[in-house]
Amino acid sequence: MASAQTAGVNGPLTGVPFVHRIVPATRRDDLRQEIQAAHDTGQLSDLIFRNYARIFDCPFPDDCAGARSLIVGAIPHPQSRVAFTWRGSRFTVLVPPSYIRYWQLTRQAEDTLNERLAPIGHWARFARVPQKALAAHSGLALYGRNNIAYVPGLGSFHMLVSYYSSVPCEEDRWLEPRLLERCERCTACRRACPTRAIPEDRTALRQERCITFYSGYSGPQGLPEWLDTDWIECLIGCRRCQIVCPENRAFRRWVEDDWEFSEEETSMLLEGLTGTKVPDAIRAKLDAMGLIEFFGLEECLQMLSRKLAILTARR
Ligand code: SF4
Ligand code: SF4
Repeated sequence: MASAQTAGVNGPLTGVPFVHRIVPATRRDDLRQEIQAAHDTGQLSDLIFRNYARIFDCPFPDDCAGARSLIVGAIPHPQSRVAFTWRGSRFTVLVPPSYIRYWQLTRQAEDTLNERLAPIGHWARFARVPQKALAAHSGLALYGRNNIAYVPGLGSFHMLVSYYSSVPCEEDRWLEPRLLERCERCTACRRACPTRAIPEDRTALRQERCITFYSGYSGPQGLPEWLDTDWIECLIGCRRCQIVCPENRAFRRWVEDDWEFSEEETSMLLEGLTGTKVPDAIRAKLDAMGLIEFFGLEECLQMLSRKLAILTARR
């Protein structure tokens, strides 16, 4: 079998067009144990733990039975701008990196990976694992004090992807997750966070205080009662701590992917649509944005209605 660094891969694979690391597939068990231990010692709340449990409760995919490694990668990803028109006035809101077209881009990356691996007799398939922890242990990313993964050269403007692969990984580089050096002397994200999710006295984010957790993907969709709706500025998640972060200085104005909803479409979304009543044009747009696949159709419609109610109430 041709090598292309595959005989005992211990570093990035050659020819793969995104920054990545590779670790043995058995490291999935370490991630599970680490999360269990964090829960057992009270560092991870029941609410957050239940989300991780959903990942690990998924059966290991049959078609990945021969997996020998886990590949974790970071694809550059901008913020996206979404425009709505309400009562004759057009307004735009941003979506932070890593939401829009997530699954389309993940599949594209998987296809590219397989194009590189197939000629040397190997394959890669999407792996459902805690990607941030995997990226940190593999050395791909460092944590910010805001619990966001920072990749050298990309800041936090990327989306993480992870794949099982048949490629062997004989040198096992499994590092202790590290905090960005800059975080030792910086407090910008803590000062910018409206919910006080970033504590002064410890490095771990209070995830249950983070607006992003209530995006409807990694956590519950409804906003908790304590959350002041004035703190909501994004259509999905929250970007305040990323935008003030000096590590993102080169990227913070990076906005691509403009999406537009007409006044009629905005009204319909605001009033609340159900999956059976959503007009084809709206459905097609949400599909192209990757939001239906990301959230599920009903959840996506509910999320938009809830967010638009908050955003239009200010106008
Ligand atoms: S804003 Fe400062 S403390 Fe927060 S993640 Fe960025 S460098 Fe670290
Ligand atoms: S995403 Fe928003 S709520 Fe969460 S830590 Fe950052 S600033 Fe705070």
